[in-house]
Amino acid sequence: MDAPTAISKPDAEEIAERITNAVMEHRLPPGIKLVEERLASAFGVSRTKIRQALTLLANEGLVKLQPNRGAYIASPTVREAMDLFATRRLLEPEVVRNVIARATKSDLARLRKHLALEAEAHARHDRRAIIKLSGAFHILLAEVGGNSFILKLMNELCPLTCLIIALYDSPNTPACPEDEHTPIVDAIERRDIEHAVRLMLEHLGHVERELQLGGEGRQEICWDQMFG
Ligand SMILES: [Zn+2]
Repeated sequence: MDAPTAISKPDAEEIAERITNAVMEHRLPPGIKLVEERLASAFGVSRTKIRQALTLLANEGLVKLQPNRGAYIASPTVREAMDLFATRRLLEPEVVRNVIARATKSDLARLRKHLALEAEAHARHDRRAIIKLSGAFHILLAEVGGNSFILKLMNELCPLTCLIIALYDSPNTPACPEDEHTPIVDAIERRDIEHAVRLMLEHLGHVERELQLGGEGRQEICWDQMFG
């Protein structure tokens, strides 16, 4: 008999992606220490691989590496939170303009399908899915917009936005306000640039206004079930 085939172990990129998901779904709060041994056992990999994943995340700004103290999920300041939203207010009107100029029928169908997934998640009160899909909507728009530089920035900014929301949001409003994505897609489909841009800016304003200063991380962490 052959030895049973080992289940393939995740590589550093996959580990980094799963940690990012845990942040986007508010399962990992800002400022929490990432202990290499615990992560290595949760993922079933070596500490070397965990270190590689943490370095990737540090390059994206999601993790802070502190010499002799280890790795922490970033904990953006109020100033950084305001700068982040200011950056998104610059980028996302351009995303909307690009989407209107470049979206194909199948792109629009993808956006509609995403809205349907968001609606389903709201209907079943699936908080994790709602948070994840809210962030993913903005990344999908940037993808459809087709400006690869903006997409790269949005891939960095969306997980950081989730961190900021986890840090500063009131607990009962975990994601983008419900039903604000649909009118944006409606305006995009009508090719109404002015209206679509205005709705996007209002939407970002609503998300930012939900933030409350002085919040703090407050969850119990169950490391072994975190990344499943
Ligand atoms: Zn949104």
